[in-house]
Amino acid sequence: MRKVAVIGSGFGGLALAIRLQSAGIETTLIEKRDKPGGRAYVWHDEGFTFDAGPTVITDPSCLEELFALSGRQLSDYVELMPVAPFYRLMWEDGAVFDYSNDERALFEQIARKSPADVEGYKRFLGYSENVFREGYVKLGHEAFLDFRSMIEAAPQLVRYEAYRSVYAMVARYIRDPQLREAFSFHTLLVGGNPFKTSSIYALIHALEKKWGVWFPRGGTHALVTGLMKLFTDLGGQVRLGSGVRTIKAEDERVTGVATDDGWSAAFDAVASNGDIVHTYRDLLGAHPRGRKVGASLQRKRFSPSLFVTYFGLKRQHPDIKHHSILFGPRYKELLEDIYTHGVVADDFSLYLHHPTATDPSLAPAGCSAFYVLSPVPHLGKAPLDWESFAPQYADRILAYLGRRLIPGLRDDLVTLRTFTPQDFSTELNAHLGSAFSLEPLLWQSAWFRTHNRDDVLSNLYFVGAGTHPGAGVPGVVGSAKATAKLMIADLAA
Ligand SMILES: Cc1cc2nc3c(=O)[nH]c(=O)nc-3n(C[C@H](O)[C@H](O)[C@H](O)COP(=O)(O)OP(=O)(O)OC[C@H]3O[C@@H](n4cnc5c(N)ncnc54)[C@H](O)[C@@H]3O)c2cc1C
Repeated sequence: MRKVAVIGSGFGGLALAIRLQSAGIETTLIEKRDKPGGRAYVWHDEGFTFDAGPTVITDPSCLEELFALSGRQLSDYVELMPVAPFYRLMWEDGAVFDYSNDERALFEQIARKSPADVEGYKRFLGYSENVFREGYVKLGHEAFLDFRSMIEAAPQLVRYEAYRSVYAMVARYIRDPQLREAFSFHTLLVGGNPFKTSSIYALIHALEKKWGVWFPRGGTHALVTGLMKLFTDLGGQVRLGSGVRTIKAEDERVTGVATDDGWSAAFDAVASNGDIVHTYRDLLGAHPRGRKVGASLQRKRFSPSLFVTYFGLKRQHPDIKHHSILFGPRYKELLEDIYTHGVVADDFSLYLHHPTATDPSLAPAGCSAFYVLSPVPHLGKAPLDWESFAPQYADRILAYLGRRLIPGLRDDLVTLRTFTPQDFSTELNAHLGSAFSLEPLLWQSAWFRTHNRDDVLSNLYFVGAGTHPGAGVPGVVGSAKATAKLMIADLAA
């Protein structure tokens, strides 16, 4: 029987391991940290459950597919609950917009803000649905291994003006400045600046509209646990707390892995779900291919980082929705500070996660759990000493939240923890502490992204945010489908 290793248990690594094991390939999942999930790690503090990362679960069908491969059902492993509205958007002038896939409610809200934009929104939706079909349904889980595949996609890219930004496309159809923010901020959820990210990413709007937004009962980590159980039920092997130190390679083949805890094994193929720079530069540093690609990847543009503050309060907040976006006084300029100037600004635009709005079991009785996320420059642009800066930055964010949305926040605080760009670097081996790997720019997408199979080491594969199609749970689960297809075919040959 063929034996393969998957390094890293993020959603991409897990989905790949499940696909391989379901195809009868003996698969070992090797994870550095003590718990699986990668960016979707979890903490339990004083009775509160804090999911570390992804909270907006879209396209449940890509997850259901993983269970269906072996005739199982996702619902037997984890319950997904619908979230409505998808997001509550709030501006400093008091404006509020509940973003959902309830078309009538959307039209009404748009009409209240700017009647002329209702027609424009309908045309934007048409555009978004077209790019969703071309970019996600057709190409979202196909590997781009050669330039020809890029040429084949070119007519569609030109047709949908992929060289324009999401914001430019939204602005073509919608005039109200706040509505432009409402329909363009989504790229931030996959690490992209809406003013720079290809308009193809406008597909996220259609994707959310089609499948909705979901939250697993028990939190996102309950979904990770469900996927881990599926993998082990299928007979997959797991090593947690075991960081891979080296991918062994001879000539143009990889032969196995060795870990920090002194374990090593031979494999017929290896797939890395770890950071792409870390994989080439550190794990394959002894091989010329690792040194060469590691150096060239470091010249690419990486997504910013995030500063996340997790906090538990001794009071419930029934008026605060599950997902809120608090737009600050600046939009484009703040994004330039983050993406270009490397400035941690004095003002914020924040995403607030309030999971106890959907699942009260994530906090002790009568309490509420939150996390607040502030996009910040990565360590290459702002090499701050985050260990000393984190407490004061968290203080500023919580004071702002207290003023704007959660009065008495400080007095009600039961527990608090932060995750900084430095933590992304040390805990997850993320290059420059980037939260989403390569920035989703047109010239870093599809064939221009790290290939799902290395061009030289013919049995080395990649899966996750650094590969096609990119970050976000549906993205990395799609990348697993593309990579699994290649591996299953190669291993059968
Ligand atoms: C705070 C935050 C919020 C987000 N919110 C959302 C959201 O709401 N919806 C959404 O769709 N997406 C969201 N995202 C994006 C999404 O979480 C990620 O794009 C996705 O989870 C990344 O998955 P991945 O497969 O690339 O693996 P990762 O999650 O990056 O996992 C990689 C794994 O590899 C392990 N690893 C690294 N090096 C080694 C080594 N040498 N040996 C062994 N193991 C190693 C790491 O420990 C890690 O567990 C969010 C991201 C963050 C950070």
